[in-house]
Amino acid sequence: MQSQSPQVVTVLGSTGSIGVSTLDVLARHPQRYSIYALTARDRVAELAQQCRKLNPRYAVVTREDRAEELRSLLGGEVSTEVLWGADGLSHVASADEVDTVMAAIVGAAGLRPTLAAVEAGKKVLLANKEALVMAGPVFLRALRAGGSQLLPVDSEHNAIFQCLPYPCESLEEAGVDKILLTGSGGPFRTREAKDLHRVTPEEACAHPNWSMGRKISVDSATMMNKGLEFIEACYLFNAHPEQIEVVVHPQSIVHSMVQYRDGSLLAQMGNPDMRTPIAHALAFPARIDAGVSALDLIGQGRLDFEAPNYQRFPCLRLAREAMDAGGGAPTVLNAANEVAVEAFLQGRLAFTSIAAAIEKVMNSAPAVELTGLDVVEAIDLNARELAQQVVGAL
Ligand code: NAD
Ligand code: MG
Repeated sequence: MQSQSPQVVTVLGSTGSIGVSTLDVLARHPQRYSIYALTARDRVAELAQQCRKLNPRYAVVTREDRAEELRSLLGGEVSTEVLWGADGLSHVASADEVDTVMAAIVGAAGLRPTLAAVEAGKKVLLANKEALVMAGPVFLRALRAGGSQLLPVDSEHNAIFQCLPYPCESLEEAGVDKILLTGSGGPFRTREAKDLHRVTPEEACAHPNWSMGRKISVDSATMMNKGLEFIEACYLFNAHPEQIEVVVHPQSIVHSMVQYRDGSLLAQMGNPDMRTPIAHALAFPARIDAGVSALDLIGQGRLDFEAPNYQRFPCLRLAREAMDAGGGAPTVLNAANEVAVEAFLQGRLAFTSIAAAIEKVMNSAPAVELTGLDVVEAIDLNARELAQQVVGAL
């Protein structure tokens, strides 16, 4: 049933692919949601346009000069107050007036504001998988302490969530044998392995089914995205690594599956459009219109499934190894990946060297336990420095 007063929402990363899809869903339900804050790093003109249209209470950018730019772009047109920097982000993620936070900043930069929302007990819609991957145990501790509700937006995890009973404290008690994490295999699923070293950032970012930000597009091409999602699933569903199997499904119609002890296999399906998991997480447990057309199964015709190729996509193996190693290993994996992907996008690293660079960093980073946020950030920083050296030398 719809509540009387609208849910107050902050969208972290509102100019990104997930951010824009979120605003699209929110705009379809003006009675149900009101927007408290929008945030962005550098697309200030786009953020100004969003502010003019939606008139949020706050807009947050990362730097003071961009805040000035945004203020002058807005002039006196809207009453939106412009904040900047880490404090601004944390404020709009945790303010008393806010009910729900969409965590859609890309990469490690999203960790602090997402944690601020979790600690403040907000309903957190998690798109920013890197935050969970790099800080898993610390993040989950904060979640328990803050009493916040975490709803997965990543389409696979949202699908798994939909196929599990709610609440689900233990997979064992729910009768779950296995989680089948599906992935399209990315744009290079059938490309000859010998040709992969010379693929360009443009080819890597041209995903066959999904339109996404550049970092996650490269992650999909290396299949590190599936590796990060494997770690994300272990943390989100308290799953043992052996309970998660990656299944390649080129059409991206089945978004993941849960296999039960009695032989039942539950799947969540839909067209590949992030507005479905976004709308699901926003309205849970209600269902709202997401602007997504119904899946035409007959038109679709067929659904294919195959095993992943760990030789062609070593990032998948590296993610499993990081989770097996535990402690700060996923933090190192994530940091090294962010540096390597950035270098690839800037033309400084070959596509196939992304995995090689990550593996080198993982082999030389010391094993450290994740005891708190300061430790997470120290491991992250150290791994980034190591990764810069490794990338420079490759
Ligand atoms: P994107 O690059 O399109 O957008 C990223 C957003 O974060 C932008 O608003 C940008 O301004 C902001 N941002 C970037 N760096 C920042 C920084 N240092 N400080 C503050 N803000 C910063 O990315 P995206 O594709 O929307 O992905 C966002 C997150 O959602 C990622 O973690 C990604 O893995 C996850 N995700 C995305 C999709 C998808 O379909 N795009 C699907 C599942 C999960
Ligand atoms: Mg996903």
